[in-house]
Amino acid sequence: MKKKHEFLCINCPLGCSLELTEEGGEILEIAGAECKVGEKYAEEEFRNPRRRVSTTVRVSGGTLPLLPVASESPIPKKMVRDAVKVLAETVVEAPVADGQVIYPDILGTGVNVVASRRLDRESTR
Ligand code: SF4
Repeated sequence: MKKKHEFLCINCPLGCSLELTEEGGEILEIAGAECKVGEKYAEEEFRNPRRRVSTTVRVSGGTLPLLPVASESPIPKKMVRDAVKVLAETVVEAPVADGQVIYPDILGTGVNVVASRRLDRESTR
């Protein structure tokens, strides 16, 4: 039986509404894309959706208690929740440099999670 899936292309400001038609996992048609990027995006969203992880980790000895972090590239969408859980348990020692690897190879994805900003050590004076 044919099934339709709808996606919103987020690759440019046009924001095309995409409609992918499949049957038994085989893609029959992708409609609504103004360019090939959108067609590829709909196919990826259907076969292997990925998302960038963006959250915070706790900091020990820093000027702030939390550090914003993000994955260097998207990871499989179904792993995002677990990745956020792992990062919620992570504590880093200040100082932290912008872009410093905070959690390498998160959940075996090959993707590093890095600091989104620099965070200095709290002065003890
Ligand atoms: S399909 Fe192409 S034109 Fe449309 S939003 Fe995506 S990238 Fe932009």
